[in-house]
Amino acid sequence: MQYISTRGDAPTLDFEGVLLAGLANDGGLYVPAAWPHLSASALRALRGQTYAETAFAVTWPFVEGCIDAAAYKRILEETYATFEHPAVTPLVQLGPDLWSLELFHGPTLAFKDVALQLLGRLFDHVLAKRGETIAIVGATSGDTGSAAIEACRDRKNIRICILHPDGRTSEAQRRQMTTVDAPNVMNIAIEGDFDACQDLVKAMFADRGFREEVNLSAVNSINWARVMAQIVYYVYAAVRLGAPDRPVAFAVPTGNFGNVFAAYAATRMGVPIQRLVIGSNANDILTRFFEAADMSMRPVAPTLSPSMDIQVSSNFERLLFDLYDRDGHAVARAMREFRETGRLSVGANRHGVATQLFRAARFDDAATLEGIRALQARSGYLADPHTAVGLLAAEALPEADCAMIVAATAHPAKFAAAIRQATGADPIMPDRLKAVFEKKETYSVMPNDLKTVQAAVRKMAGATA
Ligand SMILES: *Cc1c(COP(=O)(O)O)cnc(C)c1O
Repeated sequence: MQYISTRGDAPTLDFEGVLLAGLANDGGLYVPAAWPHLSASALRALRGQTYAETAFAVTWPFVEGCIDAAAYKRILEETYATFEHPAVTPLVQLGPDLWSLELFHGPTLAFKDVALQLLGRLFDHVLAKRGETIAIVGATSGDTGSAAIEACRDRKNIRICILHPDGRTSEAQRRQMTTVDAPNVMNIAIEGDFDACQDLVKAMFADRGFREEVNLSAVNSINWARVMAQIVYYVYAAVRLGAPDRPVAFAVPTGNFGNVFAAYAATRMGVPIQRLVIGSNANDILTRFFEAADMSMRPVAPTLSPSMDIQVSSNFERLLFDLYDRDGHAVARAMREFRETGRLSVGANRHGVATQLFRAARFDDAATLEGIRALQARSGYLADPHTAVGLLAAEALPEADCAMIVAATAHPAKFAAAIRQATGADPIMPDRLKAVFEKKETYSVMPNDLKTVQAAVRKMAGATA
């Protein structure tokens, strides 16, 4: 498979190229040059298959030519063996036509594991082939850092350093990062806030000499391989509920538009998905777009679903590319307008095309808490605040005669304070989370100073190479 940029001016790359590049050098995002097709008989053939086998069938066209088939199968088996449920992403029935697709059975109990566990192994495989090592540096306010660390731990050709704001993450979040005992993992608590951490990371990437010296890299959410890995569970769930012979609908709590874009990709590949429902929290730029064609930036407001506190949904550009009939220069113009004016208009025709498939609804924190409480009272099922936003959206926008599947993106125990507020009781803590409260923590506290942090990253990159 060849990949092209959504802005039309970056070189075409193969899978290995997009895996390592992340962002395209014209500022765009890489997308497949054509969507592979899963025929009705190919979908029926997936019925008896395991998650890893399904992952191979769905993603092989995207990686073919870059990785040997047997090696790729091994990587997929190993990746999904780290999940604690035999179905990897099990379905739980909540109502006659309502299902929860639990994406949180991986090492850090959130859906980002599904893609990052694969990404870490793919990076390692490709780097070993090239005889290279990389240093991944990232900033986290809590959740994504642990998923990235778990994905990269013990990978021979990767070092990873995650900065978090000292004393400003929850104890569970900090411990999920700092109790990982692996020689290639470094945690630094910065004396500052999350923005300070992010500015340090940006400054390291902007320092070209440093970037080349340590072979700096990132595992951000615009990497195509992450979207690719997420397509699998949409296909897997649809097949379990009758695809291709019965259509399904999905509801997805959304921030960066990555997860729901993967569902869209499944529709482009031929999975009969009749509706995609987006759930937003108070940061509702996407809901305003789908409801009223209004895509205008507003300040970010903190909510109980922090992983969706985003105003610019970077993966949305991949949908725009299709809405603009894959005209990269038109997308580049639209994105320039968005950056300059804080507003994006796509025109009535394109908006009409988008709303044939997508619907959206927003829920504030009060509605989210009430949603968690009501669901538990009705069915005994406990949803985390992100999942609750998806569930509320599913209930607000039901589809007749069609299974509605909600992407459950985090385990409720990761958001215990919100659960307590909603239900008056603590969620049951799974063993995987309990364990981090017993393990020893390792991290260094450093001042908000670029030179100090760079020296530490340099030492990490060299010391274990
Ligand atoms: C990242 C995240 C989301 C949002 O996913 P996007 O791909 O950014 O739309 C939702 N819920 C949880 C728990 C997350 O960690």
